[in-house]
Amino acid sequence: MAERRKCKHCCQGFSPRPQNPDQQYCLEKACQRARKRIWQRRKLSVDLDYRANQSAARISWRGKNPDYWSNYRAKNPDYVEGNRQRQQERNRRRRGQNTDRTLIAKMDASMSESSINPGRYLLSRVEGGLIAKMDALLVEINVVSGG
Ligand SMILES: [Zn+2]
Repeated sequence: MAERRKCKHCCQGFSPRPQNPDQQYCLEKACQRARKRIWQRRKLSVDLDYRANQSAARISWRGKNPDYWSNYRAKNPDYVEGNRQRQQERNRRRRGQNTDRTLIAKMDASMSESSINPGRYLLSRVEGGLIAKMDALLVEINVVSGG
């Protein structure tokens, strides 16, 4: 007499197959789908390799469907416009951050071209092309190596 147990999904009785004594779902399609979904969710949360494989599969799908996103953008101009504005905003912010670095780079360039005369100088902090503080530091510049 075969053992009967209750399917975890549909709650109907079923007989587990001898090959699978731990079977918890009957063989109905919906129940097998539910089993797979639960298995997959659990697998994703515990198995890093499996997760990596899944995302590799997504990336490879994108490689095989290179037009998907350009088609999507063509069909969704609002999405594109929003993206473009966000990118411009990011660029604006980045330019602001770069100002100091740009000035320093320019200073380096001019220093290497025309040698700076040793002596005492007033050093002021510059921010966005403007002198940030009126109080300046007195610094002395000496030539270390005549390059
Ligand atoms: Zn079932």
